[in-house]
Amino acid sequence: MHSKTKRTQPGRVAFAAFSGFILLTFPCCFLMNGLTGAPEDAASVRLTVVGDVMCHAPQLSAAYNAKKKVYEFDSVFAPVKDLLSAADLTIANLETTLPGSRKQYSGYPQFGAPDSLASALNNSGVDILTLANNHSVDKLKAGMLRTIKVVDQMGFEHLGTYASLDDHKKRRALFIERNGIRLAFLNYTYGTNGIRVPKGTVVNLIGKGAGIAADLKYVRERKPDGIVVLYHFGGEYLRAPDAYQKKWVDFALDHGADVVLGGHPHVLQPFGVRKVTDRYGETRERLIAFSLGNFVSNQQRRYTDGGKIFHFTIQRNPDSESAQRLLFRDIRYDPVWVYVERKKTGRSYHVLPVNAYLQNKGPIKLPKNAYERMMRFYKDTTAHLAPSVKAVAPYATPRPAAD
Ligand SMILES: [Zn+2]
Repeated sequence: MHSKTKRTQPGRVAFAAFSGFILLTFPCCFLMNGLTGAPEDAASVRLTVVGDVMCHAPQLSAAYNAKKKVYEFDSVFAPVKDLLSAADLTIANLETTLPGSRKQYSGYPQFGAPDSLASALNNSGVDILTLANNHSVDKLKAGMLRTIKVVDQMGFEHLGTYASLDDHKKRRALFIERNGIRLAFLNYTYGTNGIRVPKGTVVNLIGKGAGIAADLKYVRERKPDGIVVLYHFGGEYLRAPDAYQKKWVDFALDHGADVVLGGHPHVLQPFGVRKVTDRYGETRERLIAFSLGNFVSNQQRRYTDGGKIFHFTIQRNPDSESAQRLLFRDIRYDPVWVYVERKKTGRSYHVLPVNAYLQNKGPIKLPKNAYERMMRFYKDTTAHLAPSVKAVAPYATPRPAAD
């Protein structure tokens, strides 16, 4: 069990209650390092993170190949495969379980999907799955245990749910080293939709925070280069973070997290870089994205019909004396929109990289109505996230729209 961590000094989170990110001025040496002076060979790791992988009932029907009697999802992610594969580490939130029998496949409210959904993510370049979300135990203990086993066998790194107390002890944090940079990952959910976490297993819950504080302390003691916290939280359909999200983001930052990423609201929320002095008295910039939206789902209402692929590079600061041990570079996002193609034979789902479809000249031709809806999503998204892009300047490198 997690022990309570006593607060020895008041932590200070150096920003106004979140009311938009503020532009920060940096000492010029930092600017030099961050923008122009960094040697090419400075160790760095490129991360790509997508939002919630939902699997509603119509997606199940669409994926079913009656001839072969199998569920096929590869084509859903094919349009974004290149974007997902390019990073050193690609992360997704699997918001369903893998119960293993067709009888148990179901959409909302208790999700269960075929293993081929996860293998499609694997084939598309996803390396890490977060499993702590409000649907972790939708298929109770057996479903949760099987999900862990299957994604593990597929070769995913995964975190957030644990088959036993012993499993939790062994995998309490996920440590991954790439390109000489060692990162620690932690994943928590606000709850499990009122279904009790099965006895003897662990789902990382935000709860009262004692667990998060203890986990972050545990991670810190192992001195990774950076700490990434992935939360599943927030009011659904809210386009700005709510008080709960702000509270727990601040909590993680105060306890030493470098990056905090979120999901669950089904819509996009702001992102940015913020300078924070944590409870250890360390002042440095941290990267936050409150909600990455839906990566794939059957939700088709305005704002819910897409999400973003979020990219950033973590680079070791060549100035080893700097409190800013890591530099966040080349922060950008690719909006993705879920095209639900309606054919006589049924539906198919496609996660489209919007930038490549702005002129409707992608490999999949969109009917007028779909194109207009995609453009509405694009305009909503770029307008909504524009202040975020501005706020992460001078780091952000918005990707020019493809023609
Ligand atoms: Zn959720």
